[in-house]
Order: sequence, then C-alpha cells, then structure tokens
Amino acid sequence: MVQEISILEHTNILSKYLDLDQRGKIVAEYVWIDSSGETRSKGRTLSKKITDVSQLPEWNFDGSSTGQAPGDNSDVYLRPVAYYPDPFRKGDNIIVLCECWNNDGTPNKFNHRHECNKLMTAHASEQIWFGLEQEYTLLDPVDGSIYGWPKGGFPAPQGPYYCGVGTGKVYARDVIEAHYRACLYAGVTISGINAEVMPSQWEFQVGPCEGIKMGDELWIARYLLNRVAEEFGVKVTFHPKPLKGDWNGAGCHTNVSTASMRKPGGMKAIEEAIEKLSKRHKEHIALYGSDNDLRLTGRHETASMESFSYGVANRGASVRIPRSVQAEGYGYFEDRRPASNIDPYLVTGIMVETVCGSIPDADMTKEYQRQSA
Ligand code: ADP
Ligand code: MN
Ligand code: MN
Ligand code: MN
Repeated sequence: MVQEISILEHTNILSKYLDLDQRGKIVAEYVWIDSSGETRSKGRTLSKKITDVSQLPEWNFDGSSTGQAPGDNSDVYLRPVAYYPDPFRKGDNIIVLCECWNNDGTPNKFNHRHECNKLMTAHASEQIWFGLEQEYTLLDPVDGSIYGWPKGGFPAPQGPYYCGVGTGKVYARDVIEAHYRACLYAGVTISGINAEVMPSQWEFQVGPCEGIKMGDELWIARYLLNRVAEEFGVKVTFHPKPLKGDWNGAGCHTNVSTASMRKPGGMKAIEEAIEKLSKRHKEHIALYGSDNDLRLTGRHETASMESFSYGVANRGASVRIPRSVQAEGYGYFEDRRPASNIDPYLVTGIMVETVCGSIPDADMTKEYQRQSA
C-alpha cells in the first residue's frame, strides 16, 4: 500500500514493546458508542487478570466531548457488560464493552442496549438467533475518495469485483484478513467474509448469536475493524451509499430465527413472522439506519423503501427466504432492509418486539426517538 508514511502506525517497532513484561498488571480498553454511532475507547490499568465481568469497575468519561452530555453536567458513566481478549495487546489484556449511563441513573440517550436487553430477556425462552452481514467501504485517508480507485476517475463498471480474485479486482485484502484474525482472537462469532459488488466494499458476517450478544459482538467487530484500519492507514465508512450513481450501496442484512423456526415445520413460524413484519414496515424502516433512502431504491439488489415485499431467493425483496430454507421447510429468514450504519441494538430489539411480541416496559420506537429529543 502506498501511503504518506506520517499517517501510518509503526506497528513493527511497537511489537518490541508489546513483548515487555507487564509485571502482573493488565490493560482494559473500555469501548462505548458515542452520539454519532461511532465507537470510542480509553484504556486503564487493572491489578489482576479478569475472570468475570462483575470484577470490572465502573468508569466514566467527559460526555461533552462526545456529544453525549452537556458541558455543565458532563460525566457519563461506563458500565462494563462484556469483555473480550485484546488482539492488539494480547496476553491477559482485554477489550471491555460498556453501556453509557447518566449521572441521574437513567441510560444515556445513545445507549439503546438497555432497552433492547429487556426484550431479549423477556423472550429468552424463544432462543432468538441473529446473523448480521456487515457491509462497509474503504476510503483514502487523505482525500476521502474510495480506496484504491484511480484519482479523479472510476474503475471499470461493477461485475468482476464481488468475491473477486486478482489484482485490480480486489483492494486491501491485507486489511480484511487482519480484521478477520483479530475477530477470531477476540472470540467474536465471525462466520465469514467476502469482497462486495463495488470495488473496495467488503462484508463480514457475525452470527448466529443469541439475543443481546448479537449487538455486542457486532459493535466489537466494528471497533476492531477501525483499529486495524488505523494501522494500515485506511479509513472505514459505514455509510449506506458512499457513492451516488451506478454503484452498490452498503447494507447490514439481518438474518433471524427462533427455536420454533429452526425445527422441522418451522416454515409456518417464518411465515407468521413475515406477516407481522409486513404490518410494521414504517416502524422498522425508521430504525434501519440514516440515509437508507439513498440505498433502498429498488435497484442494486434492494427493494423500494416505500413498500414491504418478500420472496424465496429474491434479492430484490424486503425480506428473503433462502432457497435452502424453503426446500427443507425450516430455518431462518433474511431482512434485507437494514443499512450498514444501523445500531444493531435498535434493529434486533424491534425485530424481537415484532416477531415475539411487545412487553409493557420496552418500546423500541420510543427508544429511538429519545436519541433525537
Ligand atoms: P447471503 O447469502 O445473504 O450473502 P451470508 O452467508 O453472507 O448470506 O450471511 C448469512 C448469515 O446468516 C450469517 O451471519 C449466518 O451466521 C446467519 N445465519 C445462519 N443460520 C442462521 C439462523 N438459523 N438464524 C439466524 N441467522 C443465521
Ligand atoms: Mn452476505
Ligand atoms: Mn453482501
Ligand atoms: Mn444477505
């Protein structure tokens, strides 16, 4: 990769220091979600190896610097909810996923995990599984153009790039491979990767994950991708339509199944779920990512945003039943509407609310409105 050397991290020199003895201390990197749907993190030293999430202390940060709190009441609290082996620092060092809480004991308005988790807990007996297909695009760090594309021009039209092999057909496979390994090391349930239809657009899949773990693992996988990309001097965007015109957008297809869908005869439960989804199209679309209207045009393997549709093996429908699922009569379905920049807690939350039933003390539509209030 040719980049201005000043923006590259000197990972080769760093590796010498990563071998130094930590004298029994560990480093915990606390990760949270900010007001713009990006991850933030900061590290702290802990005196011993962590074996349970309950051992991790609560912490805080300056929410006025992240758009999460006013300057005159700026402390936002970080409550650890899950931790993962740190693929950068290795050893007993960990990455800690946190929920954000306000000073008055209420969840921060960008903490959608808390509300989502109420629904996941209430419907735990249905053993809902998700699989998210995270598409994203790489950008040049200097001018923000699509990574690797000819300056001031375009590559040849789409066609050879999807799952492409060979020079000029794929870009930055090193970044993607490094991220894959980092996810495996961290214990993220990454199930695969592929190059996408637009050159420099890629996808990774996380899942199946049960309940709240889906949102947790997708956020950690995104965090790891951004960290890996720093070292290579490449930018990542989760925008659903990074480039207007005849270029594919980026989505986050959401695959779903409950225990009853996964056993023989499960097609009935799948059809019932799709029927329920068809009645809440607007409510779902509202939570399926910003700028999704630029992507859901009815072209480039998407359905129109205006109406709900479904079909077997149909990549132009809102919801697709995979051909193999139809053939076996049970399995899962795929909601193709969510954009690449979703908050997975909102999407998996409303999915459970619609498919498994609402509960008195949670409402994903109101939860989303809270963030813009
Ligand atoms: P596509 O053909 O749409 O590109 P992918 O192979 O990229 O499909 O992604 C399929 C996703 O579905 C993966 O994340 C996988 O973990 C997930 N998945 C597989 N089986 C199930 C299931 N029973 N319930 C929910 N998700 C599932
Ligand atoms: Mn896919
Ligand atoms: Mn894809
Ligand atoms: Mn898909």
